[in-house]
Amino acid sequence: MSGKLVLASNNAGKIRELQVLLSPLGFEIVAQGALGIPDAEETGSSFLENALIKAWHAATLSGLPAIADDSGLEVDALDGAPGVYSARYAGLSASDGDNIDKLLAALSGVEAGRRSARFRCVMVFVRDAGDADPVVAEGCWEGRIGEACRGEGGFGYDPVFIVPETGLSAAELSPEDKNRLSHRGQAASLLASRLRDLASG
Ligand code: IMP
Repeated sequence: MSGKLVLASNNAGKIRELQVLLSPLGFEIVAQGALGIPDAEETGSSFLENALIKAWHAATLSGLPAIADDSGLEVDALDGAPGVYSARYAGLSASDGDNIDKLLAALSGVEAGRRSARFRCVMVFVRDAGDADPVVAEGCWEGRIGEACRGEGGFGYDPVFIVPETGLSAAELSPEDKNRLSHRGQAASLLASRLRDLASG
């Protein structure tokens, strides 16, 4: 497959990860910001709905095929919150630090064995703005929420997301290790293989 493809995100951390993950597809990947495309309003109530809203928005304004993902953190002790509200958990203009502070406060007093959580990601590819048969892939990364921030890498909730296999936070992983393990890495490789299958007929 070849040609230009627009990545429907303006989150620098996410764009960095996705450009690496999707480069094997052979598309020239352009971030929507480079085309002057603003963020779509995420009005959906599921990761899939929001991913489609973002992909159709970017495809409409660019005239190009688009890939979008929607992702978030589900914490069992909080009945799956913050979920689709992960980016704005502490308010519309919340920083990553504000969201983490709110999460740690909500889990204050919750013992280690009850701090299980997962990152979930739904990634979609649309051929154009009218595509009614998008390609969809999902990834899920199990872990638990630590007691305090650790590490400088990644973005979002990474400093408090403890990865069981390593005992490290996601922010302490190398970018390569995070991409190999993460919800987004899993969704991207699944999407890539579905797209390869489609291309080969
Ligand atoms: P989205 O950009 O609408 O998918 O919102 C996802 C939000 O979930 C981000 O702003 C982060 O707060 C959180 N999130 C998603 N993926 C990750 C990740 O890989 N690490 C840390 N936080 C993440």
